[in-house]
Parts: sequence; C-alpha cells; structure tokens
Amino acid sequence: MSRGKKIYEGKAKILYEGPEPGTLIAHFKDDATAFNNQKHGQIEGKGVLNNRISELLMTRLEEVGVPTHFIKRLNMREQLVHKVEIIPLEMVCRNVAAGSICKRFGLKEGEKLPRPIIEYYFKDDELGDPLVSEDHIAAFGWAAPQEMDDMIAMTFRVNDFLSGLFGAIGIRLVDFKLEFGRQFEGDMVRTILADEISPDSCRLWDIKSNRKLDKDRFRQDLGDVPEAYAEVARRLGVLKGVANLKIVSKETAK
Ligand code: ADP
Ligand code: UDP
Repeated sequence: MSRGKKIYEGKAKILYEGPEPGTLIAHFKDDATAFNNQKHGQIEGKGVLNNRISELLMTRLEEVGVPTHFIKRLNMREQLVHKVEIIPLEMVCRNVAAGSICKRFGLKEGEKLPRPIIEYYFKDDELGDPLVSEDHIAAFGWAAPQEMDDMIAMTFRVNDFLSGLFGAIGIRLVDFKLEFGRQFEGDMVRTILADEISPDSCRLWDIKSNRKLDKDRFRQDLGDVPEAYAEVARRLGVLKGVANLKIVSKETAK
C-alpha cells in the first residue's frame, strides 16, 4: 500500500498520509520516552508488539460497539487508521492506585480505588500534560459537552470490557490512557477512539504476582522490558504472528 508524505513524528509513532482521503498510516517505533520526555530509550520490538496489541484491542472494542479509528494492520509496524482531529485531552481511567495519583493523594501503590475514576489531562507537552477539570475543558472549549459525555461513556465501557479481557488472561488492568478524535464525514462529525492501546498506555500487572508488564518497567528501570511487552502479546494470542522477533518471553521459553 502506498504511503503518502510524513505528516507527524511523535515520541512513539510516525503518521503518514494514507492511500485514501481521510486515512492515515500509523508507524509504530521502538522509541520510548518517560517523565515528559526527560528519559529516552529504545525497547527492542516494542513497535511490532504494540502494533499487534493495539490491533487486537481496537478490533475487540469495535466488535462490542466502541467506534475506533482502526481500519486494518498493513505490516509488522504499520496500521491504516481513520484520520481524526485529536481532542486535546488524555482520558485516564484508574482502577487501582499507581503512578501520579499516588503522589497526588498520598495513596499506596496497589490500593484498590473505591470505584473506577476518570481524570482528564490537557495534551500539551510543553506544559507537561496538566490535570484539568471539566470546567476548564468547557471554558476553554477543548471539547463540547456532548463530546465529553461520549468520551466518558466510552472510557467506562472500554474499562469494563478490557478489565474482563485482561482478567481472563491473568492480567489486572490497573489504569490506562485513551485519546479520542473527531471524524468528519461530509457534514457529520462523530467522536471515535484513536491513538493506541498498548503496554505503553496501560498499567498491566500479573494478577498473581503483581509483576509489572508495562512501560513502568522502563520508567522504573526494572529490566526485562521487551519480555514484558512480549508476555502481554503472548497472553493475548498475538505473539505467534511475530515469531521471528528476537524477543522470547521468559514464560514462553519455559
Ligand atoms: P506523541 O504525539 O505524544 O509523541 P505518538 O508518538 O504516539 O505520541 O504520536 C502519535 C500522534 O498521533 C499523537 O499525537 C496522537 O494524538 C495522534 N493520533 C493518533 N491517532 C490519530 C488519528 N487517527 N488521526 C490523527 N492523529 C492521531
Ligand atoms: N499515560 C500515557 N501517556 C501519558 C501519561 C500517562 O499513556 O502521557 C498512561 C500511563 O501509562 C498510565 C496512565 O496513563 O497507564 C496513568 O498515568 P499517570 O497519570 O499515573 O502518569 P505517570 O505516573 O505515568 O506519569
């Protein structure tokens, strides 16, 4: 499939114009960053694994009625997606305390939250993606009230569905970040799930051992980072397609 010109290079992906108007090709890189770009590194095979993992999760979500940007996977590192106008918010949903919420409220990592909590962060690297309220969003016009209602409903739906999907493979969905965008079709516009869902954007812990199987292994220098991503892919049943990848999950190798 012909790839158009590069339109954006981010920390983890490159976007190219797609073959049809209204489409893009997302290329998944191995680059990893953390702490608002202060820590840089490479996680070998991450792009290939996240491409597969995101494909699987977006496809399952679409099947249960969550509209997504995903069209099809093109090759090991690329997928075709619907182009959207990204709503400049990171919708974070948390089931268990970890990361920034622990610092903010003095919670212990691993503490179960009384119920799933959604937080909004304004997507702005220069400002370090600050936490914002619904009133900030309405006042500054970052998202319309109807878009907020849709994003909140979809985020809870994604949480319910993915908590079950991961639970069935022995993984606790601790928290995750979603991005949504506006898809324009003629004079219609709808809000759909965009970007990616992967161990870069979720906290995933082994249910029995609490072993971290996500980007926190990179953030916290815990080691075995590619192996953790491969373990998630293996449990989801998408590692078979990337058998020639050098990473062999330790548990797979047993
Ligand atoms: P970042 O921009 O934070 O460095 P990435 O490297 O993952 O992150 O870059 C991907 C960029 O593409 C993000 O800014 C994301 O908001 C944007 N994006 C994701 N999906 C789409 C889409 N379907 N249409 C347009 N932009 C998208
Ligand atoms: N997250 C993300 N991108 C970001 C910030 C957070 O994907 O720019 C994800 C992160 O991986 C975690 C969740 O959102 O699954 C909540 O992150 P948190 O606010 O705890 O921030 P962190 O501790 O990662 O800085």
